[in-house]
Amino acid sequence: MKNIKIITSEYRIYQKEVRIFNARFVSFVNYFLRLHFDNKSLDKSKYNWLQPEILAIGPEPGEGVTTEFLDEFCSNIEKQKVDVLGVSVYVWNKIQFKLVCQEVKKRFPHIVIIAGGPELDAHKNPNFFKDNWFYDYVVYGDGERAFTTLLDHLSGQNTELVNVVSSDGTVYPHQVFTDKELMKGSPYLTYKDEIKEVVQSYRSMIIKKYKRIEHLIAIWETTKGCPYTCSFCDWSSGLHNKVRFWGNKKEPFINDKPNYAKELDLFTDIGFHSIQWSNPNVGLSPQDSEIVDYWCKLKKENPATPQSFVLQLSKIKKELTHQLYKKMITHGLEKRLKFDVQDLDPKVIQNLARPEIPWSEHKVMIREFIDEFPAIAGDFRSKINFIWGLPGQTLSHFDFNLTEATQLGMYSNFFYFELLPNSPAGQLDYIEKFELKHEPIYVTHLQLPVDLKHITKDILNEYFTETNLVTSTYSMSRKDWFVGIAKSYIYKRHFFTTMNRSVDRFVLNFSKYQTVIDQMYDMFQENRAIAIQPEHLLETSLYHEIRNSIDKITQEIYS
Ligand code: SF4
Repeated sequence: MKNIKIITSEYRIYQKEVRIFNARFVSFVNYFLRLHFDNKSLDKSKYNWLQPEILAIGPEPGEGVTTEFLDEFCSNIEKQKVDVLGVSVYVWNKIQFKLVCQEVKKRFPHIVIIAGGPELDAHKNPNFFKDNWFYDYVVYGDGERAFTTLLDHLSGQNTELVNVVSSDGTVYPHQVFTDKELMKGSPYLTYKDEIKEVVQSYRSMIIKKYKRIEHLIAIWETTKGCPYTCSFCDWSSGLHNKVRFWGNKKEPFINDKPNYAKELDLFTDIGFHSIQWSNPNVGLSPQDSEIVDYWCKLKKENPATPQSFVLQLSKIKKELTHQLYKKMITHGLEKRLKFDVQDLDPKVIQNLARPEIPWSEHKVMIREFIDEFPAIAGDFRSKINFIWGLPGQTLSHFDFNLTEATQLGMYSNFFYFELLPNSPAGQLDYIEKFELKHEPIYVTHLQLPVDLKHITKDILNEYFTETNLVTSTYSMSRKDWFVGIAKSYIYKRHFFTTMNRSVDRFVLNFSKYQTVIDQMYDMFQENRAIAIQPEHLLETSLYHEIRNSIDKITQEIYS
């Protein structure tokens, strides 16, 4: 009998203040793979599924992936006699899993390590296993059937492998997971007793180890896939656009409830604080309206019902999706406004192949929200999300985006554009077409002990490690890209220290910051490193000297 262990970690963490693997998100990847395995494997008796790990076992706050963390992790793996280790790799945990898995492989070469997730490009990168020698197999695309057939193959069955790449470079064929019969089931309900146990022991461990209660967030999948192909996104690993749904209302249900309702009941019963509904287009399917209705009803009857965490609305059918959003706000399921617009220029949106209605219409709709929910709109967490560095953008787009959002009284949040290997933008023809430049840079949210000017190699090595690396991407000049980044953080500092939402003077007078920006750029050129200030920590970073200059200029502009 072989022991299988699946580990996941959600959400990117830059700060060293928090553990490298986020403690709040509870992913159910293990149970999705297992549901398929339990129903379809030819060799069920040969495997024992260990309880999944949510990697909150360290390292301690203030540390990176330390030797102590690796020792503790490997000792657990040894104690549990793990034979097959599965890891779920995303852009936010790729480096961390690399460090963990290479150590596991060095110490226990017999353990078969299977990686999956949208961040891995083994199926199209002939050098993949040279850099990632510690993985034995990589699952690409939908993982359910791939994982089951691979386990059967490992136990000696003659099965047809799909969606798998082996370390000798063999790429097995791609197949979209469309098993409607299986998708009538529910991994959450099938394994509910174990899920309760896992979450309970996880919660107790956090309280014991970190002396605090963690608000846990369940990641909930009702819809699989997205019909769109926004170029920056690697949803479905860029392999297909099929959308599939879990559950089937035509089946007879216990208590006359569909699976989604029973799953929401379960999450409430377990005591999750929030649910991250992973559906990337809430409102696109008729089931979504039913889900929102049931969720609101549940919240009304039982205030302990988990609230929603970061809803992703459909980009089209906005009339309907906004109704759903408003309903959720009214019932206390959503506590802030968030609109993901990426850029307001139709040409840039066209370059992204993103479905979106014209800004003139969208703006009117957002205005309605603000008028209807002024308190929520005024919450500092309410925001309009943009991406900076997109093909076709210039600094004037930056200013326009910022100004438009500010006219609505909303905070503008700028993510930077990162090139994901399986996204349409990650492909050579797209890179060439838009002349995208990309380079690894270090980003930290920590307060450095000295100004960047006086930084030493030792400090750099301590604060900017492999785990802080991101792939910055831009089609404008490097300096313009940097100025946009600097603008976004100067604006952020201005916004969160003064809560002053007016940016007109800021935009018009931005040239006053030029000397400071030039200084910052010189430092960036030398170190390829940016230290930025997280919005909730006002007294950190941006190096005292530069921060003081920025504050002085800001004061002048606004006095
Ligand atoms: S960004 Fe959202 S809508 Fe666009 S492809 Fe990705 S998941 Fe789909």
